[in-house]
Amino acid sequence: MKASPADIERTLTVREIGKKKRASVYDNVAKQFDQAANLMNLDPNIRKILSTTTNEIVVHFPVRMDDDRIEVFTGYRVQHNNALGPFKGGLRFHPAVDIDEVRALATWMTWKSAIANIPFGGAKGGIQLDPSNYSLGELERITRRFTYALGNNIGPEYDIPAPDVNTNPQIMAWILDTYLSTVPPHERQRCTHVVTGKPVESGGSLGRDKATGQGVVYTIEEWAKDRGFELKGATYTVQGFGNVGSWAACILKKHGAKLIAVEDISGAIFESEGIDPDDLLNYAKKNGGVISGYPKAEPISPTAFLRTEADIFIPSALENQITGDTAPWLKVKLVAEGANGPTDPDGDMILREKNIDVIPDILCNSGGVIVSYFEWLQNKRSEFWELEEVDCKLHKKIVGAYKGVRDKAKEFNTDWRTAAYIVALSSIERVYKERGIFP
Ligand code: NAD
Repeated sequence: MKASPADIERTLTVREIGKKKRASVYDNVAKQFDQAANLMNLDPNIRKILSTTTNEIVVHFPVRMDDDRIEVFTGYRVQHNNALGPFKGGLRFHPAVDIDEVRALATWMTWKSAIANIPFGGAKGGIQLDPSNYSLGELERITRRFTYALGNNIGPEYDIPAPDVNTNPQIMAWILDTYLSTVPPHERQRCTHVVTGKPVESGGSLGRDKATGQGVVYTIEEWAKDRGFELKGATYTVQGFGNVGSWAACILKKHGAKLIAVEDISGAIFESEGIDPDDLLNYAKKNGGVISGYPKAEPISPTAFLRTEADIFIPSALENQITGDTAPWLKVKLVAEGANGPTDPDGDMILREKNIDVIPDILCNSGGVIVSYFEWLQNKRSEFWELEEVDCKLHKKIVGAYKGVRDKAKEFNTDWRTAAYIVALSSIERVYKERGIFP
């Protein structure tokens, strides 16, 4: 489906469409939370605790640029809840990072760990910056200075960062190195689990890089089994072709499914005969990480991308992409949320009306935190697991989580997002009731 002239006329750049749809992300979390808490009749005291964050750390720190200027950056770490275990969650480097977004992302992490049944709480952080404006050396100094500014607000048994948008294993390695430099030499070896998503040589886990995309595909496989849907020959579209989107696309290809449209920050492309995600990834790697100009597909507008008819849509970019404005355009059977918060509550309502299935973010993209947990365990035990072992354990965990959410949706006769919240809130509620509130 090529972009029609009308589409082109109406074309907003990806950046504009992102800005237009940017409502308060934390308001979305609050609405989702209220819906589930009302339905399950969550204890009112526990409701009060969970509807706010535990700690919000904002740091401003100076960094010397390559041209000797000093820039001052703002970094965040929000710790939502640690009833089930240490705070856990990624770090994002993006111009739109602010306290509202980080609060929302931290809260989703609490639910995600609880649904996956791993002993972590929820946190998130980031720095408000556009990394494309900085050299590698500047990014290293920014990362190290941020880590130093966070000080003991992170720690291997307390709060464990990981990669998210625009951060990667290299950045995790700098965080590790900086953190270790601040602890006494004899304690360093037992602190390597201060961060996950590290390069494998620096204590990372095999399978962590692909874990989120792999988990997305495991949940799609289960959905297909439940629906009696054949993945071979199915069509899919992917928004965001970074860590999550590219891995999900490449792994789904192995099932014989056909990728027909992709969108990233640089634009969108379409090819009805199919786009080879491995070839596209090679192209992106050679072209500054973006897909625009890919010669084996047609450029289309962001609007035409969302209007593309396909079986499965995998949003893997940012929040608030499927909204009251854009959800009516979708012509798919399933939205598998690789990204955090891609659908806002208005979008959700429309997807329900259109009978489009949704595998919600806090289930669908939990493969990342699950394998982060495996990395954390391997570091603590000085073990190194083979890839097959990691994949097999991830499969077991995420399929267990999928079934838990599916069954809860049936029990409460509700949508999957609300069901996922109920699973998470019930397990945290149980722990609070057992342990009580100090003093
Ligand atoms: P990434 O930085 O590797 O990739 C982000 C991708 O999104 C890039 O291709 C970028 O071009 C694209 N993008 C950015 N803005 C866009 C826009 N306005 N429209 C279209 N595309 C846009 O990030 P990632 O790690 O793949 O994370 C993507 C999403 O998945 C985020 O919501 C993140 O929170 C979530 N997530 C990531 C992980 C993980 O392990 N990395 C785990 C769970 C959830």
